[in-house]
Amino acid sequence: MKLLFERSVPGRRQNIMPSLKVEEYKFDKSLLREAAPKLPEISEVDLGRHYTELAKQTHGVNDGFYPLGSCTMKYNPRINEEMAGLNGFTAVHPLQGEEYSQGSMEVIWNAAELLKEITGMDEVTMQPAAGAHGEYTGLLLIRAYHKAKGNTEKTKIIIPDSAHGTNPASAVMAGFTVVSVPSNEDGSVNMEALKEAIGADTAGLMLTNPNTLGLLDPNILEITSLIHEAGGLCYYDGANLNAVMGHARPGDMGFDCVHVNLHKTFSTPHGGGGPGSGPVGCKEELKKFMPAPLVKKEGDLFTFFDPEETVGRVRTFNGNFLVAVRALTYILTLGAEGIREASTGAVLNANYMMHKLQGKYDMAVPGRCMHEFVMNLEELKKETGVSAMDVAKRLLDFGVHPPTMYFPLIVHEALMVEPSETESRETLDMGVEILLQILEEAKTNPGQVQQAPHNCAIGRPDEVKAAREPKVRYQF
Ligand SMILES: *Cc1c(COP(=O)(O)O)cnc(C)c1O
Repeated sequence: MKLLFERSVPGRRQNIMPSLKVEEYKFDKSLLREAAPKLPEISEVDLGRHYTELAKQTHGVNDGFYPLGSCTMKYNPRINEEMAGLNGFTAVHPLQGEEYSQGSMEVIWNAAELLKEITGMDEVTMQPAAGAHGEYTGLLLIRAYHKAKGNTEKTKIIIPDSAHGTNPASAVMAGFTVVSVPSNEDGSVNMEALKEAIGADTAGLMLTNPNTLGLLDPNILEITSLIHEAGGLCYYDGANLNAVMGHARPGDMGFDCVHVNLHKTFSTPHGGGGPGSGPVGCKEELKKFMPAPLVKKEGDLFTFFDPEETVGRVRTFNGNFLVAVRALTYILTLGAEGIREASTGAVLNANYMMHKLQGKYDMAVPGRCMHEFVMNLEELKKETGVSAMDVAKRLLDFGVHPPTMYFPLIVHEALMVEPSETESRETLDMGVEILLQILEEAKTNPGQVQQAPHNCAIGRPDEVKAAREPKVRYQF
């Protein structure tokens, strides 16, 4: 496909400016460029076609099945966009006084109240801009808590190896040392290893739940009470609340702090870099450290306030406000019953697919899953030479977005499938059929899979080079 610069023809324009009705102002020469910038010159119709052609080469939730594990690529209802597009929300200025921002403050307050209810927490901040940012914020709260108590020896955060990769990164960013705890064969936290890891230096533990194998840990209550006995706090990575919301609450499982991903569970379009939102909830003992400001309601009036010992701001103004508008719309549209049904559907759909594929593809942990499951293609690779990457590439030929690959790291040749609740049974059946066809090809004609994709604009780029040496400038 030709680049805009390659389509450029000198003098081509796409706007017709009205003729000048005032005297032309001449800038001083020192303020002017010596040569015109090298911008592509192109007509409006050609520009439109260029971007349409680009759009056709990508894949979104509106194009087809998108079972990208851990990312919850579900359908995002259009009504969310309509609400986020309301003039009263888009035209509000963040420096507008409180008395002129009451509607927006009500949205923040309402969204936080509903998230408190859904997570079982006592306070929620809408500031963090993403899941990892929420983790970092939560860990700052834990750090402030220990500092205020004079717990100088509490410097370590325990993280099971089935956690999302952002957990240890956030802990280090927040100034902690990470202690990794291994998982059992069945994907649960190894309790013996956990007990050994706990000590006077334990500041807390981070649990990704369901973990990155798509499984609910059976010992959560014991885990949180062990950490509390040692004087530590418990952090719940709730990015994948899609699996449990309406059924179980981190606050009732002994967790002191949690983040949720509005751009996953609460339906804001994501992928391609945002915007996201990772609100953080905490229990009573962490409330006074929360980022400032929070919104409170007195009578009919909403006001901002700073918690007494706030860790400060973690984001400009009030976070990605329009994502909160979408999440609030989503929660109010579904209601308590709908929220519960959404996670029921997510778990049902994942189990339906897993059940149909089990026995044909190896599973990392056979049996049942929560909202996603992990296939292990190690044996297939040994037998046929076809890797998880090859299967992922072949899926592109069928217009299916590949599952998450080579994650979690504790499974080699992993494909992590998350169908989400918004897919129909027909789509799930189609996904299964395609995966089974690819398995058959791997056994009878591996080259067909290894050389895929056959029908895409781009086949197999050098991914390391693309990441390390991206060409983002046109070379004239
Ligand atoms: C997606 C995800 C994160 C990170 O969220 P971002 O918004 O991408 O920063 C953290 N933990 C889990 C379990 C996730 O699935």
